[in-house]
This record gives sequence, C-alpha cells and structure tokens, in this order.
Amino acid sequence: MDFKNFIDGTWVTTSETIVNVNPSDVSDIIGHAAKADAAQMDRAIDAAHRAAPEWAASTPQQRFDVLDAVGTELLARKAELGRLLSREEGKTLPEGIGEVARAGQIFKFFAGETLRQTGDRLASVRPGVEIDVTRSPVGVVGLITPWNFPIAIPAWKIAPALCYGNAVVLKPAELVPGCAHALVEILSRAGLPDGVVNLVMGRGSEIGPRLVESPKVDAISFTGSVPTGRGIAESCGRHLKKLQLEMGGKNPMVVLDDADLDTAVSACLNGAFFSTGQRCTASSRLIVTDGIHDRFVAALSEAMAAMKVGNALEDGIQMGPVVDERQLQQNLSYIDIAAQDGGKVSGGERLNRATEGFYMAPALVTETDNSMRINREEVFGPIASVIRVGGYDEALQVANDTAFGLSAGICTTSLKHASHFRQNARAGMVMVNLPTAGVDYHVPFGGTKGSSFGPREQGRYAAEFYTTVKTAYTLP
Ligand code: NAD
Repeated sequence: MDFKNFIDGTWVTTSETIVNVNPSDVSDIIGHAAKADAAQMDRAIDAAHRAAPEWAASTPQQRFDVLDAVGTELLARKAELGRLLSREEGKTLPEGIGEVARAGQIFKFFAGETLRQTGDRLASVRPGVEIDVTRSPVGVVGLITPWNFPIAIPAWKIAPALCYGNAVVLKPAELVPGCAHALVEILSRAGLPDGVVNLVMGRGSEIGPRLVESPKVDAISFTGSVPTGRGIAESCGRHLKKLQLEMGGKNPMVVLDDADLDTAVSACLNGAFFSTGQRCTASSRLIVTDGIHDRFVAALSEAMAAMKVGNALEDGIQMGPVVDERQLQQNLSYIDIAAQDGGKVSGGERLNRATEGFYMAPALVTETDNSMRINREEVFGPIASVIRVGGYDEALQVANDTAFGLSAGICTTSLKHASHFRQNARAGMVMVNLPTAGVDYHVPFGGTKGSSFGPREQGRYAAEFYTTVKTAYTLP
C-alpha cells in the first residue's frame, strides 16, 4: 500500500518513499510512505493558510457534523484500524483496537464541544461600557506527533484544532504512516473545505523545521522526545510562536507497606510493561517501602515471568515487540548501564519468536537508587527499576526528585497518604491505586517540569492552546 501525502484536498506522491515494516515480523512490509521535501511542506502550509479563514468562519453545526462523522467512522472501524495500528506499531491487538476507539471518542467529545463554545460578558468599571471576552481560532496549527500512539495523539490534536476553527498540517512520525494516513483519509471524506487538513509525511529532521519556522504557521503542538522538543521550543521562541510540548517521563509509582499487594502488582505490571513500556506515562521508577519490598518484588517478578510476549497480532499476547531495532538496542544498552551501576537485573533479554521481530522480555532492575542513570533518563521500553525507601516521606521525596513531572502514582490503603500524595506529587497527573498510564479522553492531559510546556491537551482545557482570547469593549 502507498501512503500518500494529502495537500490542499489532493493525495500526492513523492519521488522517494519510506518503507513501513511490521515490528512483529520484519518480512511483512505494510507499505511505503511518502517522503516529502521542503517544497511539498511549503505547499501544505500555503494550503492551510489559504483555507484557515473559511474554516474559522464555519458554524458550530458544520464543525459538529465533520467531527461527529469522523468519530462515528473510527468507532465503526476500530477492529480493522486497530489491526493496522498493532501491525505497524507493535502494541497488542486489544491495545490497538482500544486506541482507535479512544480516537473515535475524542472526535465525539470535540464534536460536542463545538456546540458549547462560550464567552464571558462583564460589566465595565466605566459607566455604559460593555465587555465581551470571546475566543478566536489561532489560525494554522502545525501538529508533530510521535510513533507510540499513532492514531490517538493525532486525534487529540486534530479534533480540538478543528473544533475551535483552525486549519492544520499534520507531520506524523516516520514509523507509523499507516495510521496517520487512515485518519486523514477519513477526514478527507468528512466535508471539510480543501486545505483545512493536510498530511505531510517525511523525515522530521528535514521537513519538521520548515513547519516550525514558517511565518504562515501560527502555533505548534508537539509530542515527542525532550531533545526534539527543546529544539522546537528554541525555534518557536525566536519566532514568538505559540507552543505546546508534551515530552518524556520518568514516572514514579510509590508502593507503601499498607498497599493491597494484588492492586500494587497489577498497577505496576500494567504501568511498566503494557504497550511494551512505550508510553510517556509508563511507571519506570517503582518506589517501594521496606515492609512490603521483598513480597512486592517476588510477586511482580512472578507476574512478569508469566507475561506472554510475542507477535502483536496473535491472541493472548500481553506484550508485543519493541517498535524497531534502534529502540531495542537503546533498551538493551540501558540494561547494561543499570547493571554496571550496581543494579540487579532480571529479564530484559532479547527473545526469538516464530517471526523475526524486535522482541525482548520485560526487565526489572532491583537494588537501585534514584541517582543511577536508569532512574534519571527516560528509556521508553519495558524496563522498570525498584528503589527501596524507608517510609512515605522518603518515597515522596524520591518520587519528586526527577527532571520530569508527567504522571505519578501511589498504591496505599491510607487515605491520609493518598490525599497528601495527590497534593504534593509534582506531576501533572496523579493516580491512586491505578497505573500511572491509562487516562480518560475528556479531561486534561499533561505534566510539569521537563515533561510538558504550554497549555494542557485534551478535554475543555484544549481551548487554551487552540484559541486566542479576545476582549472587546463597546459603548453602545
Ligand atoms: P521524537 O522526538 O524522535 O519524534 C517526534 C516527532 O518529531 C516525529 O514526528 C519526528 O519526525 C519529529 N521530528 C524529529 N526531528 C524534528 C525536528 N528537528 N523538527 C521538527 N520535528 C521533528 O520522538 P519519538 O521517538 O517519535 O517518540 C517518543 C517520545 O515521545 C518519548 O520521549 C515519549 O516520552 C514521548 N511521548 C510523550 C507523550 C506525552 O504526551 N508527554 C506522549 C507520547 C510520547
């Protein structure tokens, strides 16, 4: 299958392409994706720039109809598209189907939001003057997305962008063109004017800067790694461009002595290893108090050993492959680093399966402290480390001692500690007796410190990024 770019309402090819490989079976070529050059990116930006005023003037009903239709189709095709997602990204089939359903629900949510856009009317401090505070579209928004949620992340950027009247240029990750293509194909039939949604696939380092630096692009929403995000932030700073960044995590999960052991083990198993640990919200630091430490490590190790790792498309698989060879090598190198720094590693070896792919066993590194590299740097793989602490106060201090601040969890039956942690964990999202990963689609998503920058994504809070506030004074 050829995954073409979509520019100004037309599907366009490129002379060069990027091959799309199934990480569960490298002999399975899913297709070839367009590889745009700077000129093609410029054409997409121009198209969005031309189309933006028409869409900004659209009625809530027009926007509702588009978003609702896209949501309906995504939900109706979740099994088929979930299979494509699992085939190209490597998460298990239930995870792939679940992600497509979530993308559909996001479109449905923002369809509803089109009808609920409000402003404020205030009395002025000056006699007879009226004040209206309203929201206007930002204009053209550049959307740059990673490979690990190949349909949900484009959905949670495109849906609010359209809901609030913007035109978009989507630049998805090179490893997952199929999902971006499928989503834009649905959008292409949903009744949008030409140029409102554009898809430009290609190398991020080549065409990404073009999008970020264009004077015709009013805002950039980026999800991806810290180094790429930092570069984009510097560029947006120079151009004084509105910016939203969602980046990495080193998310702590605290397990206290009074935790229910089964709850803690299942939350950590899910949080650390589901989706092959390739979630920005993955629980990578398990901070465990003395009294439960040994029982917890034994029970989690047992659960990990029972995990079925294999081809993402097979029934009963709990953990699919790593996304590609480069990421797999990075994971293995962090396992070496953890061992060299004094950690005790179990699991984490490369695995062979019937089909050639990027398989590895989930890894647990015990006897670590929070200063080790394995606890400071995001790995983005199925690797969790355990940090033993004396009690709650030390657990909270260790949890917060990180450059990141996306999600933080605690397993406890103490209302006092749960409540204190909710208030004092320095993270954008806090989970009590739940995995650090796995969030609802109708509430804000984002972090603090090095994890995020700018307004929150998702839910009603998305309006902060995708609109500009206008204050109007009238003397009738
Ligand atoms: P990445 O930074 O390598 O790439 C992200 C996107 O940026 C891709 O589309 C890529 O092509 C593009 N890009 C690369 N260089 C660019 C440049 N110079 N200018 C503009 N765009 C450029 O990240 P990845 O490997 O695709 O994704 C993994 C990372 O994403 C992890 O760090 C993970 O934590 C993060 N992530 C964060 C969230 C969140 O919401 N906080 C969610 C999912 C993933």
